[in-house]
Amino acid sequence: RLPTIYAITPTYSRPVQKAELTRLANTFRQVAQLHWILVEDRATRSELVSRFLARAGLPNTHLHVPTPRRYKRPWLPRATEQRNAGLAWLRQRHQHQSAQPGVLFFADDDNTYSLELFQEGLWSPGCSGARYMRTTRKVSVWPVGLVGGRRYERPLVKNGKVVGWYTGWREDRPFAIDMAAGFAVSLQVILSNPKAVFKRRGSQPGMQESDFLKQITTVEELEPKASNCTKVLVWHTRTEKVNLANEPKYHLDTVNIEV
Ligand code: UDP
Ligand code: MN
Repeated sequence: RLPTIYAITPTYSRPVQKAELTRLANTFRQVAQLHWILVEDRATRSELVSRFLARAGLPNTHLHVPTPRRYKRPWLPRATEQRNAGLAWLRQRHQHQSAQPGVLFFADDDNTYSLELFQEGLWSPGCSGARYMRTTRKVSVWPVGLVGGRRYERPLVKNGKVVGWYTGWREDRPFAIDMAAGFAVSLQVILSNPKAVFKRRGSQPGMQESDFLKQITTVEELEPKASNCTKVLVWHTRTEKVNLANEPKYHLDTVNIEV
């Protein structure tokens, strides 16, 4: 049986939310044995997301936790509480059974994921499993496109080992990697390090990923994916803010449509 891939996605209400989730669901629906953990940044579950998931055709878990107001600042890391809620749910769910094989990764709702990251043999028959996140034994890494002020960032690999980072930003980071896309962790590692979480306190900008990964692995241990980190299969795309300048204040539409 294939290891389950758990995708942890923080999400928050805004005009493009349903469009983003639709795009992500359309990707994830193609992936065998994927469980989507969607964590809303809210005090309660929204009807929009509940309805959406009911029709998404994907095994899923719908969680919610609001970001405290003091952490809602443009310069502070986003979605820390939501990612931790996803980890907590996984630990809770697996506490009584010896862990089924599984791999988790963090998938922001606006990023773009190639199926090649998940799908063994589908696009490149005969290509070794070394390329795909599902074969992660402990922690695996791969390049991320459109991030860090560059076309891409990537782990530098020598003889199958990560030896450094190609990045234009804070090269001193122990793990110069983007949270929302660039790594996967085996469920086993999450369960055997029950205290590993993303920290708000004491974590400098851009260091959350490093703080987290330092708790569970070392650079020497990292498993390079995406053909020894020579392919971009994930893009840190960002969606333009929508112009709603012409929304009516009166003469509203006669029907109430969810967008
Ligand atoms: N997010 C959230 N609450 C917020 C802002 C963002 O849950 O107040 C989520 C968002 O839906 C996305 C992730 O956190 O899944 C990262 O946010 P964003 O894409 O805005 O960050 P960036 O692209 O700037 O790294
Ligand atoms: Mn984003």
